[in-house]
Amino acid sequence: MTGTALPTTEDLRARARTSLERIGATVPEGAGFQARTPITGEDLFGLAAATATDVEEALAASREAFHAWRTTPAPRRGELVRRLGELLRENKSDLADLIIIEAGKIRSEALGEVQEMIDICDFAVGLSRQLYGRTIASERPGHRLAETWHPLGVVGVISAFNFPAAVWSWNTAVALACGDTVIWKPSELTPLISLACDRLLDRAAEEVGAPRDVHRLLLGDRTVGERLVDDPRVALVSATGSTRMGREVGPRVAARFGRTLLELGGNNAAVVAPSADLDLAVQGIVFAAAGTAGQRCTTLRRLIVHRDIADTLVARLTAAYAKLPIGDPFDHNTLVGPLITTAALDGMRDAVARAQAQGGKVLVGGGRRLADTAPDAAYAEPVIVRVDQQTDVVREETFAPILYVLTYDTFEEAIALHNDVPQGLSSSIFTRDQQEAERFLSCEGSDCGIANVNIGTSGAEIGGAFGGEKETGGGRESGSDAWRAYMRPATNTINYSSRLALAQNVSFL
Ligand code: NAD
Repeated sequence: MTGTALPTTEDLRARARTSLERIGATVPEGAGFQARTPITGEDLFGLAAATATDVEEALAASREAFHAWRTTPAPRRGELVRRLGELLRENKSDLADLIIIEAGKIRSEALGEVQEMIDICDFAVGLSRQLYGRTIASERPGHRLAETWHPLGVVGVISAFNFPAAVWSWNTAVALACGDTVIWKPSELTPLISLACDRLLDRAAEEVGAPRDVHRLLLGDRTVGERLVDDPRVALVSATGSTRMGREVGPRVAARFGRTLLELGGNNAAVVAPSADLDLAVQGIVFAAAGTAGQRCTTLRRLIVHRDIADTLVARLTAAYAKLPIGDPFDHNTLVGPLITTAALDGMRDAVARAQAQGGKVLVGGGRRLADTAPDAAYAEPVIVRVDQQTDVVREETFAPILYVLTYDTFEEAIALHNDVPQGLSSSIFTRDQQEAERFLSCEGSDCGIANVNIGTSGAEIGGAFGGEKETGGGRESGSDAWRAYMRPATNTINYSSRLALAQNVSFL
């Protein structure tokens, strides 16, 4: 199904300008690169990219602001984040519009992304009064051992196109509460939403009297990111994107003994057991696999179904896929918007062709829509491919809505298939068998950073730590105690006796 006609690029440009104006953001027009929209695949505005001098100036300013910000009491730092959260609430609709225009998300998902930003601000405000250290029993009389958490420094945030605002907020709200300053290098594919977020944070800083340079935005491509990666003034590089990017960034930051927080690609699977509630499973699978046009790091890419129910489940999924409304993400009926670029569509077609060459069978989807009306846009039908084996292409992340279906006979086989990929982000099992569910969540079950029961792989809440293992990079962001990555612990030994006792009973002098 395809909905109403697409908006024109002129409409989208005007809409983006209106949202940016209402938010108060100015567009640094220039010839550096283009802001574009995947809705029509066409350019919106030419923008100036940050130069080496801009990066140097931002680094110096951010470092200086850090010296003031780190001594600001944490609950007062929280007031900046509280104000940011209020401004995000007030501007929710315009922010969502910019996400729709630049990332092609459907409206409810774009609003969801803004809600996620608001939620993490609320979380970080609370966190600003809970940066707990521990007191540890000392082996020496008259001594106290303590652990104190201090702000780390400048945090460089490099973000991906597919969560163009939420990933920034997970990092920034927590880093600011922790006493760090932030320099953000957003995806070159989504500069406009970053201008809006930066402006709102600037306004919040003005209103609460925080140093202006607690946050800096640097637009541009990977070369701008590389400058942050290599600069020793950036204490932590938090980079979200492809495993390819992480493979380059990780060693470069390690070479200068900097810290990284890497949030990279996933190849997420769901196991569907014979006892599963299939109504619930179908809903969970379709949202996780086809939602956001398959462009979430947590998108469901592999379905591992028990042989006894495979045909029934696959028939229900293919029927649901055949009815998915694909098209204009501003249309309230649309569930699947465009892929980010035609290159992403080429990647999808290439992966499906390889899967077919490796024995896979396309069950539904895989076609291109709206090619006549929008030749530069990439509207793809989510596709289901049944495969006998977990071949090379199935073990890769293709950032598009391809769902590979594998079958299993024993639970052990399902777990082995599940874990036999290089990535380790999100996972789930649909079952009503408690033993199976618990085994899946145990240390011999899923090897992912996120493991769910009776819910799909995507759509995490901010309260939990987010991230994954293996080639997903090992980082954890957002809730739980992920804040510790943004601070440095110091162990303190305090002698309140009048005797110097050495540890381990060492005598000296
Ligand atoms: P990408 O790797 O192409 O780009 C991500 C960012 O890294 C961009 O800002 C880009 O300019 C920058 N970059 C690229 N190479 C760089 C380098 N060598 N040095 C410094 N910066 C560099 O990713 P993308 O296409 O924007 O996003 C899709 C990918 O991101 C998928 O693989 C997806 O799974 C992943 N992702 C992961 C998470 C997570 O939390 N694990 C979240 C969102 C997206």
